Amino acid sequence: MKVLVITFAKEQKLNDNLLNVLSAAKRINRHCDVLILGNADYSRVQELKIVEKIMLFNNVTDATNSATLLASNLAEIVKNYTHTLIAADSYGKDLLPRIAGILDLSQISEVVEIVSPNTFKKPMYAGNILAEVESFEEIKLLTIRTTSFAAYSEAGSAASVEVNEFSPLANDKLSYLGEELVHNDTIDLAHAELIVTGGRSLGSKEDFDKLIHGLAIKLGGAVGASRAAVEAGYASNDCQVGQTGKVVAPKLYVAIGISGAVQHIAGMKDSKTVVAVNLDPNAQIFEYADYGLIGDLFDVVPELISKL
Ligand SMILES: Cc1cc2nc3c(=O)[nH]c(=O)nc-3n(C[C@H](O)[C@H](O)[C@H](O)COP(=O)(O)OP(=O)(O)OC[C@H]3O[C@@H](n4cnc5c(N)ncnc54)[C@H](O)[C@@H]3O)c2cc1C
Repeated sequence: MKVLVITFAKEQKLNDNLLNVLSAAKRINRHCDVLILGNADYSRVQELKIVEKIMLFNNVTDATNSATLLASNLAEIVKNYTHTLIAADSYGKDLLPRIAGILDLSQISEVVEIVSPNTFKKPMYAGNILAEVESFEEIKLLTIRTTSFAAYSEAGSAASVEVNEFSPLANDKLSYLGEELVHNDTIDLAHAELIVTGGRSLGSKEDFDKLIHGLAIKLGGAVGASRAAVEAGYASNDCQVGQTGKVVAPKLYVAIGISGAVQHIAGMKDSKTVVAVNLDPNAQIFEYADYGLIGDLFDVVPELISKL
């Protein structure tokens, strides 16, 4: 078995979730190769026991790091492996299906457990059931739900490094205009150990900022939002937790004025401890909460902030 893990660099930094994907790779084989798109300091990854070889494509820039331009180059490399793994983030979800299409393979998405090298568990129907999928493909393509795997950290001897270059496809239908990275003053949602999430009931962006950001800052956590809150303009898209947002699994999830719709639960139900504040004693969120407070958030949250 030959396992490949694909990752990318942004602003000279490797994506942290690579370590979680490596834990998944370890469930398949003791060694794997890591393919890095873009330029970054890879020394920490090079010292990891599981990593045998690093393939560095450091001529890939923000302008050329596009799934459309790189998928066919990558497909040629993927062909040499029995398994290719990538994080199920927006980058992985864009890239791997294209590679699957080029190679005429099926992809297994959002893997949460590697049962064996051929058998994988993945959520279906907004996370309401877990499907066990057996693959008979010779090349298995997996996107990994990184919150389901701990970060890999076993140290070993230095992996070899191969520096390569891609010539991205010319594509006259696609031109790079630039990109804007959002830098929040709060912690990144995907890696946060504590998340405070607000819903539609906040009623305005001003109150969302004052109460949800205010509480998150006091607790040293990240800010999340329901889709209803995002659509109302109270929070930015990258804050959305749920089926069509981010999947998170912090140690503490504080849900303020969130009803607990199935699509929201799909994004947070692996949180270790859930605290919910809601006016309605019958709100669905209380079924998932370890601690529930029935009350008006406009009374409860200011009091909490002042006591903290
Ligand atoms: C295909 C699809 C995908 C979706 N994806 C997502 C997703 O990724 N993430 C997501 O969140 N949603 C998603 N949704 C939307 C989801 O179905 C819900 O509509 C949404 O989660 C509701 O958000 P909410 O809990 O903020 O609002 P509401 O459902 O309106 O709930 C507001 C809650 O606040 C409580 N409340 C009101 N006033 C107060 C107060 N003063 N104090 C305390 N509590 C109060 C109410 O009792 C209620 O429980 C998706 C829907 C579809 C169809």
